Amino acid sequence: GDESSTGRSIHRIAATGSRIPEPAGDFEILSQRYGLSQLLLDNLASNELSHPTAIQCQAVPILLEKRDLAGISPTGTGKTLAYVLPMFALLGSPLTSKDRPEAQQGTKEHGPRALIVCPTRELAGQIYNECMKLAQGRKWNILLFSKGASSSEQKKAMGKVDIVIGTPLRILAAIREEAIRLDNVRYLVLDEADNLLDTDFGKQTEEVLESCTHPDLQKCIFSATLPQVAERVAKRVLVDPVRVVVGVKDS
Ligand code: ADP
Ligand code: MG
Repeated sequence: GDESSTGRSIHRIAATGSRIPEPAGDFEILSQRYGLSQLLLDNLASNELSHPTAIQCQAVPILLEKRDLAGISPTGTGKTLAYVLPMFALLGSPLTSKDRPEAQQGTKEHGPRALIVCPTRELAGQIYNECMKLAQGRKWNILLFSKGASSSEQKKAMGKVDIVIGTPLRILAAIREEAIRLDNVRYLVLDEADNLLDTDFGKQTEEVLESCTHPDLQKCIFSATLPQVAERVAKRVLVDPVRVVVGVKDS
C-alpha cells in the first residue's frame, strides 16, 4: 500500500517477493506488532540501539514472520542486528535440561536451534559480541566455533547449546567429529553470503546447509553485494524469499 511504499522510499529500501511485511520505523512499533519481550527492548536500549537502521526496519519484520530473506545492504549498516534480534525473539527463551530429555538421559543430544555461518573467525567473534548485547538477562548458551576451543569442550557444550556461530570449515569438522548435529536448527543465517556462496567456499557452505534437515527451517542470507554466482545459489536454496536491497539511490 501507500504507507509501506512511502516507508520504503524514505529509507531507500527496495523489497521484492510475495506478501512483503510492512517495514517498522522503530523498535516500539516492532514490539507492538510482534510482541517483543521487555527484556529484548531493555537490552536494545542499554546498548544504545535506539532506532533501527534501514535494513533492520525491513528485515526484522520479514524474519519475525518466519519468511526466508536475502538482505543486501552496505557494510556498517547493522546487518548483524537485523538477524540477531529476530533470532532471539523467535527462540523465545533458552532451553533448559528439562526441555531436553534426550540430553538429560545422556543418550541423544539435541543440537542448536539457531546457526550463524560466516566466512572468518574474526567475523564470528564480532557476531558473538553483537549476540551478547541481546542475550543479557537470560542464560543463553551461545557457542562460538573458533580455533581456540578444543572439540571435546565443544562436544560437552553441545547438549545444551542454543545458538552456534562459526565458519563452514569448523562446522563441517565438528559434524564429522560428531561434536555437533544440525537437525534441530530452525533458524539459519549465512552472513557475508557473497563469500560463503562463491566458488571457493560454496561447496562447504552447501554441505552445512544440507545438514540442516529440520522441516521448519527458516533461512536468511545477508551481504553487502550479491554477485551472480551467489545469487544463483540463493535462488535455489531460499524458499519464497523476500529480497531486500538498501542504499541504492534513485537514478
Ligand atoms: P554490517 O554487518 O552491515 O557491516 P554491523 O552489523 O557490523 O554492520 O553493524 C555496524 C555497527 O553498527 C556495529 O557497531 C553495530 O553495533 C552498530 N549498530 C547496528 N545497529 C544499530 C542501531 N540500530 N543503532 C545504532 N548502532 C547500530
Ligand atoms: Mg556484517
